[in-house]
Amino acid sequence: MAKDQKSDFSCLTNDKPNSVVDAPCKKTCKVTYRFVFRTSLSMPYAVAVNGKVLSAFKDRPKRTDDKIPLVVDAGQSVALYLNSDAHPAYRQHPVYEVMVGDDDVEIVITEVAGKQTFTDAPEAGKATKDASTGRTVQHMTAKLTGDIWMKVSHKYAPSEVEAMLPPQTSPEVTSAVKSIYAGLNTPALQIHQPPLGEQAARALTIKFIDSDNPKQNITTYNLLKDGLPRVHPGGYAALFNAALEHGIETLRVTSCWRPMLGSIAHRAGLGLDVDYVGTTPMNRQELRLGKAKDTPNVSDDEVRLFKEYEDATVADKKADAELVAATKAASAPGLSAEQSRQAQQRKTAAEKDKDKTSRTQDKAQGAWDKERNANEPPKVRLFRASLLQCLCVSQLFDPWFMDANTKDAQEPEPNLQRPLPAGRKGLSNEELHAHHLHVTVYEPKILQG
Ligand SMILES: [Zn+2]
Repeated sequence: MAKDQKSDFSCLTNDKPNSVVDAPCKKTCKVTYRFVFRTSLSMPYAVAVNGKVLSAFKDRPKRTDDKIPLVVDAGQSVALYLNSDAHPAYRQHPVYEVMVGDDDVEIVITEVAGKQTFTDAPEAGKATKDASTGRTVQHMTAKLTGDIWMKVSHKYAPSEVEAMLPPQTSPEVTSAVKSIYAGLNTPALQIHQPPLGEQAARALTIKFIDSDNPKQNITTYNLLKDGLPRVHPGGYAALFNAALEHGIETLRVTSCWRPMLGSIAHRAGLGLDVDYVGTTPMNRQELRLGKAKDTPNVSDDEVRLFKEYEDATVADKKADAELVAATKAASAPGLSAEQSRQAQQRKTAAEKDKDKTSRTQDKAQGAWDKERNANEPPKVRLFRASLLQCLCVSQLFDPWFMDANTKDAQEPEPNLQRPLPAGRKGLSNEELHAHHLHVTVYEPKILQG
């Protein structure tokens, strides 16, 4: 046996002459789950074999965007915990369970839109022979529907709420957040904060807007009963605390949990969208779309200065490319004295030009930053600053700034609403957040990184 090869079995021996020792050798089978999502996605999952979660998933789920390859013993059962239900403390709804016989198994799970009633039980298909291993592969299929998404999205109970809120959450906010999980009667909430030291009493009204995606893809769905309680309580508390801290009187929450649209954050109940902070619409599409999207958030001067900054960026990129090419040309082997002199001249000119475009770009950026910041409503800035500091927030994207990781030392970057590179379909993350604020809740036991 090769040194690094694992033995097929191990057993205890003894020193009795002619004794017989049983060495049971179990047959192993390959089990492969393959997901076909409608859009690219990275879903949290944990694996259970014979009803017990494998130790590799003890502390947190892993993520899959396609295949989950497993090796189990013949005769064992395999099932998955998915999405927020893969959090070690939940794991209440195992899905796509298969009983493994003597053959390898491949289960293809296809995400399907619309109100579908498929169960998660895989259906047997054809058996084929794997030419390379000579083993039989049992092919199975299953569907991932909106109903199954809802099943694997943890619904928080009021009793779970308190432990999940950021520190220093007031009793008033705590009870408001709890009431979401007890089931609201209307898609609205009011919080009254009594005077705190010097600070006068404050009030906050929150409106929740239903989204089409769950309504179109789940057979029975209600925002108050099924949608709002599938979002992590820390997300609501972060928004309410930040609003009350700065005297913001109203918030409009436009999207919470939704099964089949956009990032895994919303599907896993860790994403919340806000389109109005007080009376300010969270929209800066005017930056690129001009007057058609007129708001006081973007001044005419800003549109002009942003254009100058963009033009300066293009010029700087061009100068950069010329400098790279000129440097390469100057160090090419076998140049004559004359060629070398010319190449050096080109390089010197490129260096000068790059220096100039780089300074122009810095200046243009400074001018755009200044004008943009001058028109940003102070309450929006303060609201964001509090959210960025909240322990419960891991990402924040809004029309002004983008922060993909609030826990690192990097400052948020201005949202330039840049489109995806040519040839790629859809909207970029910057474009998507040109018209609302998004927060992702920090919960590494569901989504890591
Ligand atoms: Zn969002």
